[in-house]
Amino acid sequence: MVKLKLNIIKGLAESLPVEESIVNRPQQVSNIAASLVNPTKPRAPKLLHSSTEVAKLLGINNDLIKDYDFLKIFSGSEIYEGTKPYAMNYGGHQFGHWAGQLGDGRAINLFDVENQGQRWTLQLKGAGPTPYSRTADGFAVLRSSIREYLCSEAMYHLGVPTTRALSLVKTGDQVLRDVMYDGHPDYEPGAIVCRVAPSFIRFGNFEIHTTRSEFDLLQKLTDFTIDNYFPENKLEGKEKYIAFFKEVSERTMKLMLEWHRVGFVHGVMNTDNMSILGLTIDYGPYGWVDDYNYGWTPNTTDRAHKRYRFGNQANIALWNLVQLANALYPLVEDVTPFEEIFATYQKDYRPAFLKMMTQKLGLMYVKETDDSLITALEKLMHEQELDMTIFFRNLSNFQKNHLTNHEDSKINVIKDAFYFDHDLLGESKEKWINWINQYLQRLNEDDLSDAQRKLAMNSVNPKYVLRNYMAQMIIEAAEKEDYGPLNEIYNLLQKPYEEQSDLEKWFVKRPDWARNKVGASMLSCSS
Ligand code: AMP
Ligand code: MG
Repeated sequence: MVKLKLNIIKGLAESLPVEESIVNRPQQVSNIAASLVNPTKPRAPKLLHSSTEVAKLLGINNDLIKDYDFLKIFSGSEIYEGTKPYAMNYGGHQFGHWAGQLGDGRAINLFDVENQGQRWTLQLKGAGPTPYSRTADGFAVLRSSIREYLCSEAMYHLGVPTTRALSLVKTGDQVLRDVMYDGHPDYEPGAIVCRVAPSFIRFGNFEIHTTRSEFDLLQKLTDFTIDNYFPENKLEGKEKYIAFFKEVSERTMKLMLEWHRVGFVHGVMNTDNMSILGLTIDYGPYGWVDDYNYGWTPNTTDRAHKRYRFGNQANIALWNLVQLANALYPLVEDVTPFEEIFATYQKDYRPAFLKMMTQKLGLMYVKETDDSLITALEKLMHEQELDMTIFFRNLSNFQKNHLTNHEDSKINVIKDAFYFDHDLLGESKEKWINWINQYLQRLNEDDLSDAQRKLAMNSVNPKYVLRNYMAQMIIEAAEKEDYGPLNEIYNLLQKPYEEQSDLEKWFVKRPDWARNKVGASMLSCSS
């Protein structure tokens, strides 16, 4: 008998057509939004970590987390009374090409709850096959589950819109994976993350119905989405759908700016990985830029074309919005409003980018000359290997009166961000001094005091992010059942903007061993 008492509410599966017969074998479906499916019972589930904060959002008391019932529900061993888990049907454009039906191949939505006026969907990732598993097994390995669990919570605490994570469970089952796709598969421990978000609906949920001419269902899904997640949209008919698309476009652009601000590269921005709510979703082969490099992608699958590289995320987001517009077109039957929204995205992006960057630089407002100050900085940061997080964090140590200081004392403020000492000699040193002088002059044009500016900068330039090598160290320890690093870094990343001087050891550049290591500098989709 389950002691957990949750305020279960009607979710997507109770509101839209679903396949009721529970078959967890791969199949093509039609005219349904989801399929009922039960999680696979894990062999020996063990709770490795949980978030009391997320539990609280859901109305789950702290003392219940350690309870056996919590483990049963969030490992998929048992189904919460009266609920019907389901996998969603969606398609997607993968790497620029329509891929047809994809769907929740290893995600199972357990139920929706409402707590303190907010609705949440709880979803298990890695709980076994569904009708959408295609050729894969429906499971997830510990390595990728740790990465998702940690990073989604880290993103939340950085202030970046994201799905969240309630729990990390080791299943006790072994899962076969070929990490480098080189014909050397190996068994790895299986795991399940319980993800939490208002909704997991993606661009691809809309696309699948339009490509199949399921226009009635397209409209039902869109109405469901607007009614439940965009309640401020009170318009009717076509206007309603246009306003909805506009809002999605704005949220998506904002998300791209936020990713840029913190140096996050998603790695697989296919339309099936784009949240309709503008949340970061599906943490796969993502990465954090160590050195500031627009050409960098963490995803080995994207090595050749680097479609999803750091500097291309905002363009890809727009490309994905065009695919969403195509999917919504049957509800509007007019291209003009969509084209206007694309034009707005293009027009608004640069000013919004400059605003975000000027905040990182501690400037109160954007002046005309700031465009060239920022462009010059972007160029310089690419000429050498320069650590993004350390650079922006330490930049707040400049003071207005540094302008008259000796060159070396200026360089000293930022020198920890450089990967190579020789990059601070000769011509490149001169270029940096030149830029710093421009920057200091610009600081002197603002009214902010040094202390005020430092405070403002430190609230947008994190001190701690989940560097790729950190995640790899946590994983290697966890695979030996040492969860100390997981706990330590989980706690560290709850306060990414605070100094946390006892944990200063994590405010360091990527170590040399991690430069070209699998898992630490490149990741495969095999998860
Ligand atoms: P991704 O790009 O990793 O978000 O996944 C693309 C598609 O593959 C989605 O439909 C996923 O549900 C599915 N998928 C990924 N990994 C697995 C797996 N191990 N088992 C079943 N389906 C999977
Ligand atoms: Mg996905």
